[in-house]
Amino acid sequence: MLRPNAFAKVAGPAAIVGAVGWTLWLWPAHFLWVYPASGSLFLWFSWSGEREVKYIFLFLATAAGFILPGLSPAGSSPYLMAGAIAEVLCLWLLFYALSSAESSGKAAREQLASDEAAAAQKTRDLEDELARYRLHLDSTLARIRDKGALSAAMHDMGSAATPDQVRERLCALLGKYFPGAAVELRTGAPRDFADHWVAERKIPLLVRNSEADSRFARGLFGPDVRSLMALPLYLFGQLVGFVRASAAEPDRFKSEDLRGAELASTLAGVSMENIYLYEKVNELAIKDGLTGLYTHRAFQTRVAEEILRSARGKVPFSVIMADIDHFKSYNDTFGHQAGDTVLKAVAGTLAAGLRDIDFCARYGGEEFALIVTGAGKAQAAAVAEKIRLELEARSFNFGGKPSRVTASFGVAEFPAEGATASQLVRASDERLYRAKEGGRNRVIYE
Ligand code: GH3
Ligand code: MG
Ligand code: MG
Repeated sequence: MLRPNAFAKVAGPAAIVGAVGWTLWLWPAHFLWVYPASGSLFLWFSWSGEREVKYIFLFLATAAGFILPGLSPAGSSPYLMAGAIAEVLCLWLLFYALSSAESSGKAAREQLASDEAAAAQKTRDLEDELARYRLHLDSTLARIRDKGALSAAMHDMGSAATPDQVRERLCALLGKYFPGAAVELRTGAPRDFADHWVAERKIPLLVRNSEADSRFARGLFGPDVRSLMALPLYLFGQLVGFVRASAAEPDRFKSEDLRGAELASTLAGVSMENIYLYEKVNELAIKDGLTGLYTHRAFQTRVAEEILRSARGKVPFSVIMADIDHFKSYNDTFGHQAGDTVLKAVAGTLAAGLRDIDFCARYGGEEFALIVTGAGKAQAAAVAEKIRLELEARSFNFGGKPSRVTASFGVAEFPAEGATASQLVRASDERLYRAKEGGRNRVIYE
């Protein structure tokens, strides 16, 4: 609302008082007509927002309303006095009405202002909340994108078939997340101070800025390394290597990067463990746990392959069946554990007596099946004889008691004495039986 200035605030009431007073001076007989004009004073005060002076003017106007009629030339006629009192009362009523309208207007204005301030505050709060929500949304979306890519990369690493593939994929994954950073995975003993730090504490290392890291002496890091992450690589609980990512600029890696890299290197370790376990399981299926020789099953596969190769190349090969002599009584005398040791030693002698291209399996118990490639039975029998002599010459000692073992051998040749695996085994087994019958510790091939 437009308000008068300070001069107008004073000049306005002064002009009204002057005009009313002058008029009453000129025409005192017309008091009842002129006096109500003083009500315009209070209209003025109400409009101008004046609060204190208006009470003085109310007092003056009231006094004038009671005093001036008595001073008029008409004397104090009861008619004039009653009119004057009524007009003073009306003036007071006007004053009261204007004052209460003013105060209720003021209260409404204050209420409005406080409502406005509260609304403004609420708007600011909502805007803040919205900004925070947008930030959260953006980072969540980024995290979802990252996690999607990370889980795909980790899945890729988990499906690697060799430890080298795991190594390559881990480096590719870290390289993708930290473009431009140098990434490597090394197996073996710690090579430098960072590896030693990790190996000693068994926790990952994060160096944000090599020039401001109080844990390490200056100059330890090369000129190309300002940021660094070093992580341990575990295999079956053993520290077997280190994963390293480094960059030439500071603050390249944050703590959440370290956590991500730790996750990736743990997964790399687990993937490698899986590969080793898988290889182990495969090996177990074809290798005998006690002697390390091939199993009966592997022998069957190899004989089938050898038959095909021999038939194609029209070269013979031979099968030797060997069985330790009186092994039951050896066990009874020296104990089963000693028997096992002897069994391993015999297996070693058998395998050592063959060439790399030959094949040696534990056929069952203390019985062995050997394949001598590209050799007829006479040549194979010579090999068996050499082995027999070596076995015979070996001596064992259990609990201070010396002992010796011997073995019997039966030899048969492909294709002359058996066109299939079972015929060959049967033929050589039959000669082995004859070797036993003939007094043991001998080779039979006829
Ligand atoms: P021979 O062959 O000379 O006729 O007499 P043998 O006493 O060796 O008789 P046979 O071949 O029938 O006996 C096999 C024995 O080999 C029975 C068992 O006590 C022993 N044996 C088989 N497998 C193992 C093994 O894994 N460890 C040990 N310690 N002994 C075994
Ligand atoms: Mg035996
Ligand atoms: Mg036997």
